[in-house]
Amino acid sequence: MPSKDATTRATTAETSAGRAGGYCWVEHPDGGYHCTLHPNHQGKHYDVYSRTEFD
Ligand SMILES: [Zn+2]
Repeated sequence: MPSKDATTRATTAETSAGRAGGYCWVEHPDGGYHCTLHPNHQGKHYDVYSRTEFD
């Protein structure tokens, strides 16, 4: 029987990779983006790819 955990594990790994890469990595409220500022930064979160600020 195939493992149902594979997808969950991959998603977790992706998120961990962002954090491990030195990013704040808070997800945008609408989803799809992550804050690419450094961890523990001040002020709003910011996604450099979409150039979007969010709280
Ligand atoms: Zn942030």
